[in-house]
Amino acid sequence: MPDSPFENLPHNSPLQPVKLELDDNIQFRCHKDIGCFNECCKKIDISLTPYDILCLQRQLDLNSSQFLSEYTVPFEMDKDGLPGVKIKTTAENPACPFLQKDGCSVYEARPTVCRYYALGLMSMRKENSPTDENAYFLVKEEHCLGHNEERTISVSDYREEQGVDKYDEINRDWRQIILKKRSAGPTIGKPSERSLKFFFLCSYNFDSFRIFTQSENFSEVYDLTPEEIEKLNTDDVALLQFGSRLLKQVLFGEMTIAIKDDAMLKRVQRRREQIQADPDDPNANYNGPEMV
Ligand code: SF4
Ligand code: SF4
Repeated sequence: MPDSPFENLPHNSPLQPVKLELDDNIQFRCHKDIGCFNECCKKIDISLTPYDILCLQRQLDLNSSQFLSEYTVPFEMDKDGLPGVKIKTTAENPACPFLQKDGCSVYEARPTVCRYYALGLMSMRKENSPTDENAYFLVKEEHCLGHNEERTISVSDYREEQGVDKYDEINRDWRQIILKKRSAGPTIGKPSERSLKFFFLCSYNFDSFRIFTQSENFSEVYDLTPEEIEKLNTDDVALLQFGSRLLKQVLFGEMTIAIKDDAMLKRVQRRREQIQADPDDPNANYNGPEMV
């Protein structure tokens, strides 16, 4: 990883090569009467975090599967195919589907990237470091007139104004998984197809993930208290954060969720039965991280 996050930036990059701290000031203001209003939403490339998806699906009164199929497209976040999702646009119309004449139709639930703009966030984890480092920087695009406005505001106050603190806090474990996988490089090996599907399920498809946490397969393995189970059934944010903990456990062996004593025995027995029933079944011969 380069020492500076700005190394190798192309000359025409809108990203300003100055690392900002929380108490640094920026000159920026966006408002409805500005000449460029809506310009930034007319050609987008917006990746969504788990909490972005939860907020948007609630705002639109959709379940996760409906939201994902109607408004997103999958993409690969790294060369191992770690799945990400972006807001769906088309070649003919690269505008955000939530853009209306009078602005953003999902403003209260707008994604993290929209909240941060014109700030950018770069999270890094150096190899063998237990903690993440955040670098902020300014993005100056020609069409954006917000940089000519008089107001100066600190990075910290801008984050508060835009409500990103809550989003970052809820997504913290999930971001750490991505950083950890990146910084670990090839040492943890390429995740199996099944692990990648599981990552998608835990990260984005919350309704299906909740059904999984209510399944016999799940309760056979994980030893949750009745209160914890109740929370997963009723609290969407708790479910999202549990999904990230489960991923950390499955992918990196960070054991924070209790496992039942006889879980391994039952699992091995079931595998044997599966192999006997169908020796060619790839799930029966699966050797990757354990999840069910
Ligand atoms: S979600 Fe709203 S703010 Fe973000 S790009 Fe779409 S219209 Fe713009
Ligand atoms: S000031 Fe920048 S962020 Fe605000 S509407 Fe204009 S282009 Fe978009």
